[in-house]
Amino acid sequence: MSFDLIVRHANLADDRTDIDIAVSGGKIVAVERNIEGEAGRVIDAGGRLVSAPFIDIHFHMDATLSLGTPRLNRSGTLLEGIQLWGELKPLLTKEAVIERALKYCDLAVAQGLLAVRSHVDVCDDRLVGVEALLEVKDLVKDYLDLQLVAFPQDGFYRSPTAAKNLIRSLDMGVDVVGGIPHFERTMEDGRLSVKALCEIAAERGLLVDLHCDETDDPLSRHIETLAYETQRLGLQGRVAGSHLTSMHSMDNYYASKLLPLIAEADIQCIPNPLANIVLQGRHDTYPKRRGMMRVPELMALGVNVALGQDSCMDPWYSFGNADMLEVAHMAVHTGHMTSRDAVKACFQAVTTNPAKTFGLEGYGIAPGCNADFVLIEARDAIEAVRLKAGRLAVVRRGKVISETAPRTASLTLAGRPASIDPWTYAPVEAAG
Ligand SMILES: [Zn+2]
Repeated sequence: MSFDLIVRHANLADDRTDIDIAVSGGKIVAVERNIEGEAGRVIDAGGRLVSAPFIDIHFHMDATLSLGTPRLNRSGTLLEGIQLWGELKPLLTKEAVIERALKYCDLAVAQGLLAVRSHVDVCDDRLVGVEALLEVKDLVKDYLDLQLVAFPQDGFYRSPTAAKNLIRSLDMGVDVVGGIPHFERTMEDGRLSVKALCEIAAERGLLVDLHCDETDDPLSRHIETLAYETQRLGLQGRVAGSHLTSMHSMDNYYASKLLPLIAEADIQCIPNPLANIVLQGRHDTYPKRRGMMRVPELMALGVNVALGQDSCMDPWYSFGNADMLEVAHMAVHTGHMTSRDAVKACFQAVTTNPAKTFGLEGYGIAPGCNADFVLIEARDAIEAVRLKAGRLAVVRRGKVISETAPRTASLTLAGRPASIDPWTYAPVEAAG
């Protein structure tokens, strides 16, 4: 047998070890031990992890890499971030948004991040971000799947032209209906916005993904309405609640009623631990709340939880590196998810879980799937999260599209190894 590519001696995220992966015509054709045959290219994984690509299910590509323009967020709060973005918005040009987004996608590819769901602000009447990201979606489609959410950042009702612009954006080809009920003027407006947005999605056969209850106010309960509308309109499995941080502060009795409602409606839950660990709790003295949704409890009920990065070098978050292992690492810490199974669950929350939320077809390491995968500088998913390990090779449709050299450090310490691999701290060469 002759293949385009064979990866040999790979460990898989489901704990199978020493597996070969054969690729032909851009598809995975075999996943088993000791595949016989030749290939145009052979990659020896050498007992390292090969995973399906990372997916970022919550991002803002219209704002990314804009840090410091026109100024920095001094208070570090979500509300100042929104205000700052409002100052930047009229200054945006389509060309600049495209340039920043393409630059970010280069970085994403190098990090093995090959699918991104990005919210795009529709509250600028020029719809500069929408036009730019639709163009980017087409420009990157051979190497990265970009899904866009029409996001009325300044409120579906609160911003005078948001409702009209949201429809315009969907007509232009934006894929998902967004919203921000907790930012509307009243609870009632928030509730009505959830209802209206779900109805728009139902009418058009679209997915829903709302920034929902991104507040420390335990009485912000728009998620309850979102679950109700999902049931009412038969949208089960097609609706996502992003952030849901008020859930952190809710009383346990109410949460015990709410979480099963979320499970029943098959709401996709999207925590964003990097952003929310620093944006939430800003009005607290001590103790300071963490502002994270109840991830282990949702997972225990069978809810599909997928982690987002949210921001990278923008008005809300001045860190980030397109690294979904960093996101999983933070989720482990903020959710007390340190058991072996919980760390694996966090790895799944940046791979297989978001694939379901995104609706990605042909995703996975199995015969018939697209030949998209990442060779990671770690032996298994837990080590990958621990080390935020390097991505040695990134493959899309059977072709290597990014390679990074393994990291080693040379030491000059008497009686100690001459070099170590700083990712694993395993000696790679005896002291000379
Ligand atoms: Zn967001």
